[in-house]
Amino acid sequence: MAKTPCRLLLVTLLLAGCSSGASLGVTSQPAAETTPFSSPLPEAQPQPTPASQVPAPADCPATLTPAQMEGPYYTAGSPERPVLVEPGIPGEPLLVTGVVMNSNCEPIAGARVDFWQADGAGEYDNTGYQLRGHQFTGPDGSYHLETVIPGVYPGRTPHIHVKIFASDGRELLTTQLYLAGISEQIPDSLFNATLLARDEEPDPTGRRHSSFDFVVGE
Ligand code: FE
Repeated sequence: MAKTPCRLLLVTLLLAGCSSGASLGVTSQPAAETTPFSSPLPEAQPQPTPASQVPAPADCPATLTPAQMEGPYYTAGSPERPVLVEPGIPGEPLLVTGVVMNSNCEPIAGARVDFWQADGAGEYDNTGYQLRGHQFTGPDGSYHLETVIPGVYPGRTPHIHVKIFASDGRELLTTQLYLAGISEQIPDSLFNATLLARDEEPDPTGRRHSSFDFVVGE
C-alpha cells in the first residue's frame, strides 16, 4: 500500500533532476524554461523577404548586365539632357530606348544614366560635353536617348559608354552598348554580344531605333 507514494517521489526526483529546490508538492509539471516573470513570447510575425531573395518572374532574364571598362574618356558633370544631337555633329541619327531594372525585373525609377560617346567620325570631345549627357529614369525605369551612331576609332567598334547610378548616388554599373548589325562588323576584343542593343523598327521620322534594358544589382 505504501509503494505508490514512494514511486511518485522517485519519479518526481528524477524529473526534477534531483534539484535541491524541487518541491515534493509538484509532481506532474517539468521545470519551466522561462522565468516566472517573463511575458509570453509574441506570436511570430511574418518577416519581409529581402528583394534579392524574391524569386524572379519566369519571364524575367534575371541576368545582370555585364560591366565593361570605363575607358579614358569619361568626364563627370555632364549636363542633364536626353538629346545629345546638336547641329554640325557628324553621325547618323540614332534613338536608344529601354529601361533600368533590378534582377527581379522591377523598374528602378530615378536612376541617373550617364552616356558618353564618340561622334560619327570616331572623335570624342574631351574639352567639353559634346555627345555627353545624363538623364534620370522615369517611374517605369525608362530612359530615352537621342544621339548619333558613333564612329570607329583605332581598335574599337562603334559603342556607347554608360554609367548608371542609384538615386542615392551609388554607382550601379559602368558598361558599353553595342549596336546590332553594326558593332559585330569590326574586330574588337572588348566586344560582348550580350551588350548588343536590339534593332527596332525605325521611328516615324525614319531614324534608326535601338533598345536595351539594363539589369543592375541594387
Ligand atoms: Fe570609347
